[in-house]
Amino acid sequence: MKERFTFIATAAAGLEAVVGREIRELGYDCQVENGRVRFEGDIIALIRTNLWLRSADRIKIVVGSFKAKTFEELFQGVFALDWQEYLPLGCKFPISKAKCVKSTLHNEPSVQAISKKAVVKKLQKHFSRPEGVPLQEVGAEFKIEVSILKDVATVLIDTTGSSLFKRGYRAEKGGAPIKENMAAAILQLSNWYPDKPFIDPTCGSGTFCIEAAMLARNIAPGLKRSFAFEEWNWVDATLIEQEREAARAAIRSDIELDISGFDIDGRMIEIAKKNATEAGVAKDIAFKQMRLQDLRTDKINGVIVSNPPYGERLLDDDAIVKLYSEMGQTFEPLKTWSKFILTSDEQFESRYGQQADKKRKLYNGTLKVDLYQFFGQRVKRIVKE
Ligand code: SAH
Repeated sequence: MKERFTFIATAAAGLEAVVGREIRELGYDCQVENGRVRFEGDIIALIRTNLWLRSADRIKIVVGSFKAKTFEELFQGVFALDWQEYLPLGCKFPISKAKCVKSTLHNEPSVQAISKKAVVKKLQKHFSRPEGVPLQEVGAEFKIEVSILKDVATVLIDTTGSSLFKRGYRAEKGGAPIKENMAAAILQLSNWYPDKPFIDPTCGSGTFCIEAAMLARNIAPGLKRSFAFEEWNWVDATLIEQEREAARAAIRSDIELDISGFDIDGRMIEIAKKNATEAGVAKDIAFKQMRLQDLRTDKINGVIVSNPPYGERLLDDDAIVKLYSEMGQTFEPLKTWSKFILTSDEQFESRYGQQADKKRKLYNGTLKVDLYQFFGQRVKRIVKE
């Protein structure tokens, strides 16, 4: 089987650079592209990136890339790839996705069907199976994707399974949770470090607080879940266990954290506590039912991250205007704190009463949102002897 691979880590629009940074921190050089980051590595890289990447969606293997303007070229291109290096006899290999963008070939179901035929034919040939007799597909699953962009087809195998944002700690999600990988990315964009106080005053199910604690404690986000590649016969189970064991050993238990989550809704606080317990960070976070308007603190140099209700989903317009204006007034005295507010409201700044130092366009699912960033004024800490 293969020893070296080209991988693609997929990322939500706007978060590619954060994913790129995480991949480099794991020791792999990479190229950041639109919606994806490309890197090379071995089987350890496959396991490690799935286990450790906080902001990516999925890790995929690039089986190959070729020009395909006609179905014949597509068939020959897919057929020419070394499928026998990935797919054992008897496995399931659906062409789970086909996507055509700015290309001559645009009928996606046909692209799927032709690609499937080409893989089948290649395996029949390689394993000396008679043509015309369908291959049995009963074993481990390898999901294949074909994407054609400007007449160039790229063929991928998904290694992850359900998206990496599913960490396995979410017992209940409540109304409008932010995806775990998006929360982790925003935390990395904020200048929060584990020695600073952290507050999410509209914490909902607690995603930001939990991701902050996991980041600080160096808890691998994938430690509590499984991945598609764990079913594959050529990924050594002992190697996977070794990587998990190393991840367990890497958890830091020696640090004190100051992380608080508040929400006006007591039921959300209960959910947040449950999720934090599942994630193994319950003792790191103080969750409390409170209105954000009642937030007061003497602490300095902290970071606030908030994903308040947006008009679309949770509150009507008047209530939003009032909430954002009260938010501005409540945060105003906290001059040394940095604030990061994620909302789809394009008039947020005028309602909040301050121009953001920086804005970053992101997508919360399919909803266009902005991350409004207000940087705290730097104040030296007075160290008490
Ligand atoms: N990021 C959260 C979702 C936040 S949704 C998650 O991942 O789950 C917005 C939250 O703001 C809701 O839970 C709502 O109860 C809360 N909220 C609304 N008005 C509030 C107020 N005045 N003070 C504090 N929380 C409020």
